[in-house]
Amino acid sequence: MSRSESLYSQACQSIPGGVNSPVRAFNGVGGTPVFIEKADGPYLYDVDGKRYIDYVGSWGPMIMGHNHPTIRDAVISAAANGLSYGAPTAIEVTMAEAIRNIMPNMEKVRMVNSGTEATMSAIRLARGFTGRNKLLKFEGCYHGHSDSLLVKAGSGMLTMGEPTSPGVPADLAKHTITVSYNNIDEVKAVFDEVGKDIAAIIVEPVAGNMNCIPPVEGFLEGLRQICDEHGSVLIFDEVMTGFRVHLGGAQAHYNVAPDLTTLGKIIGGGMPVGAFGGKTEIMDFIAPTGPVYQAGTLSGNPVAMAAGLATLDLIKDPKVHAQITRSTKYLTQGFAQAAAEAGIPLATVNIGGMFGYFFTDAAQVTSFEQATHCNVERFKEFFHLMLEEGVYLAPSAYEAGFVSYAHNQDVLDATIAAAKSAMKKLTQ
Ligand code: PMP
Repeated sequence: MSRSESLYSQACQSIPGGVNSPVRAFNGVGGTPVFIEKADGPYLYDVDGKRYIDYVGSWGPMIMGHNHPTIRDAVISAAANGLSYGAPTAIEVTMAEAIRNIMPNMEKVRMVNSGTEATMSAIRLARGFTGRNKLLKFEGCYHGHSDSLLVKAGSGMLTMGEPTSPGVPADLAKHTITVSYNNIDEVKAVFDEVGKDIAAIIVEPVAGNMNCIPPVEGFLEGLRQICDEHGSVLIFDEVMTGFRVHLGGAQAHYNVAPDLTTLGKIIGGGMPVGAFGGKTEIMDFIAPTGPVYQAGTLSGNPVAMAAGLATLDLIKDPKVHAQITRSTKYLTQGFAQAAAEAGIPLATVNIGGMFGYFFTDAAQVTSFEQATHCNVERFKEFFHLMLEEGVYLAPSAYEAGFVSYAHNQDVLDATIAAAKSAMKKLTQ
């Protein structure tokens, strides 16, 4: 028995499912999850001493690669001054200004401790600001696990095959309207009927929780227009896409300005951090300036801010995004070529440092419907073959992949060589 296997069975005795977040349990691919001991650059090292090239990057934050010396040093020196004060600090001001400089649509910013908190708070604020209850979201988009958002959600919810979660009161879920991603006509039809009751549209501007699906032309612009016409708040959930598909997020990449933006992952550089922000008139509606309550004992934690700020400082250098974008494209082209050589139909997509690959005959995947009709059995086989080859891909057919600045040419070529070997071994 490997050390991962024995730790997993031990974990299952005291942790539900042996993990602290469902997708880690390998439910989507079967088998025993790999337990990690340490990480460095593009690599993860498991407790059995095996090294993997990592394309999960802690689900997005590790854009500079693992254990980056500058980020690590920033954390160590912040920690030397105490871990938390529960009072204002200068670094929170620096962080808010840094975010605003990179994403000018975030005129004011509130820090929180996770992406879930960011989206939950943004929705409460949008509801309080508009005095409306209804929320429009898209099937297969995941925005964290708060009650209003666990309706037809993506990510781990997809591999569990549950459209909604028990424990979410029907009385609350009824305020969440779910329509198809990339289908502006459906959005229009809903707004024609109940537009005056809709507080907000929340959207992943590039969907990354049903594999990776970019917006079709005109989709984000259409949402902007509909919100303007109906006085609803447009929320871009950039927890995943922020600083990832472009330094300025999807809002810069597509040049569409949301009213509110939610952030997570990269903004914490690997520490538990989230943020939400946007137009001053909306943001001033939260406590203590406004009536909508929102708070956090550890929000703006100095050690977490140090990790996030050090990360932002590093990725501001234009060569970082230029390289990551090039690397991601090279990787997906390599996957496509590996599949073509083996006669396996595969569609790939890349945008900034985010990518997806679908085992499908379709040239492109643009909808949730298409994403869920790909060949999941083939994905599972590929995932395990790659794991054997020492490549750690997201253990679910419904997650995006992430490339970091530490994934250099040799690492990318080694990954593509592994993909060539794995594709040839796939059951035809
Ligand atoms: N929004 C999006 C787009 C996400 O991808 C995620 C997490 N993957 C969340 C929100 C929730 O973030 P967290 O897991 O930090 O609560």
